[in-house]
Amino acid sequence: MICRFFKIIGLIFLLIIWNFAFAQEGEFPDYGVPTTIPPKLTSVFGEYRKSDMENSPHFHFGVDFSVDWQVGKEIVAAGSGYVKRVVVDRKDIYGDQIVLAHPEGYVTLYAHLSDFVGNVQKIVEMLKNEFGDKRIEVRFKPNDVVVRRGQTIGYSGKTGDALVPHCHFEVRSEDEEWVYNPLFFLRLKDDGAMIRIKKITIDGVDYTFDKIKDSTVYVGEMRFPQMSISADEENGNNVRGIYRIQMYVDGDLVFELQFDKMRMGEFRKTGILYGISYNTYNYYTYRLTIPSNDLLTPIKVNKTHSISLIRGRKYKITVVVSNFWGREKEVEFFLERRPNA
Ligand SMILES: [Zn+2]
Repeated sequence: MICRFFKIIGLIFLLIIWNFAFAQEGEFPDYGVPTTIPPKLTSVFGEYRKSDMENSPHFHFGVDFSVDWQVGKEIVAAGSGYVKRVVVDRKDIYGDQIVLAHPEGYVTLYAHLSDFVGNVQKIVEMLKNEFGDKRIEVRFKPNDVVVRRGQTIGYSGKTGDALVPHCHFEVRSEDEEWVYNPLFFLRLKDDGAMIRIKKITIDGVDYTFDKIKDSTVYVGEMRFPQMSISADEENGNNVRGIYRIQMYVDGDLVFELQFDKMRMGEFRKTGILYGISYNTYNYYTYRLTIPSNDLLTPIKVNKTHSISLIRGRKYKITVVVSNFWGREKEVEFFLERRPNA
């Protein structure tokens, strides 16, 4: 009897563990990387992009994988499904691209390609002969061109806005209203890139990590100062954006940014988060104080505008920067209103 009791308890316990593990992994379907060489992540979701092809900047709505700087490397389907459309347009920032629809209710996109395969390539060749350099977009009916996970769907290139050949990979909702951080689907391991907090800018004054750490910054006004942080993740030649930034004031979370998903309509709204005049060297500078009415999906908490700095009091500021896998870098300092202000 006792033995049976423990067996049942054991079974319930096992079911609880099983459920927990499934909830963690099962929220998003499991997709494979779109390249056939060992995966090397060169850019992440949410980065700032100022295209050479267009005047207005945009968010990076996918992740980039290395193809060893080569044109013609196999690009493969991340999951089984069918071809939804192909676009051939060298003037589009995405260049030549293929979009797949998957039965799990997601769409994947592969950009900057040089060529496609099979019947898709034949159709594209035919249309190119007829329309030349004009934009070509072919929409396929469900199950017209079926693909299996891992099947070659095209070849790497640098069409569109790409400095070197690479594969730009996106995951979108079925209706393409939302775009997700592809890392939720890819089950990649942390590659150990170094998370760096380079500087924090407070009311226009730059403080390096070493200078600001554990020190006190004096500000003139009652309002919480305008702040931004320059942070990135460095892995050899690659510098990537940040997944999550949190700021605490005396232990209370007042700002949180997390690049989990975005609305397609937010593509050009970089000005809310990245400011206006950044050059290549501060692409990875994020605002920590956002006007209260500027909404953006990745901004989860935004409360600094409601803080007034009381004279004679020291406020402890903690900024925590994390990558997708939860590895963190932190800086702590103090903020105080000048006695005569
Ligand atoms: Zn990209």
